[in-house]
Amino acid sequence: MSTLFVLAGPTAVGKGTVAAYVREHFPQVWLSVSVTTRPPRPGEVDGVHYHFVGDQTFADMVAAGELLEYAVVHGRASYGTPRRPVEEALAAGRLPLLEIDLQGARQVRERMPGAYFVFLAPPSWDELVHRLIGRGTESEEEQQVRLATARTELAAQAEFDTTIVNDDVERAAGELVHLMEQHAHRAR
Ligand code: 5GP
Repeated sequence: MSTLFVLAGPTAVGKGTVAAYVREHFPQVWLSVSVTTRPPRPGEVDGVHYHFVGDQTFADMVAAGELLEYAVVHGRASYGTPRRPVEEALAAGRLPLLEIDLQGARQVRERMPGAYFVFLAPPSWDELVHRLIGRGTESEEEQQVRLATARTELAAQAEFDTTIVNDDVERAAGELVHLMEQHAHRAR
């Protein structure tokens, strides 16, 4: 049995980018593929970046208890972590990582007592705003919603086991994987 790692943090801090870097460069990490009701963005592949499903399928998965955690993020779409693959990765002694939002992280804390929580922090609030606006994929209204979410999420840092500053994607991803390997080694 290995340790489940959870990477969370404010919106637009670059959780997805760090997770993508880990997916590309660190095959020893098993990255959970979430289910979401939002439509794919250009370049996103079903089954790789997310499992893209309809509202009914998502509701059915919730009702069947198939999700380890789930949340409505930014008041728009639902996201959740399929439970079975996580349990299999843990049983197989892999290094399992969830990249999820804060609401989801809190649910995982309740349900998986041994999990280890990593907060991904922006170098500064200004930098976070810059990244959020700079991404340019959301409407102005949606940016405001995300900023408000990010403010409350930043305050949650104290709930986490450790913090990694995302000053550079490659460095932050390297620190994360190093930390996971160290922790897994100690837990053995
Ligand atoms: P995006 O739509 O930009 O890919 O992701 C939006 C937000 O949803 C991000 O903060 C991301 O961490 C979060 N998210 C992605 N997958 C999950 C999941 O399975 N559960 C939860 N609770 N949040 C998720």
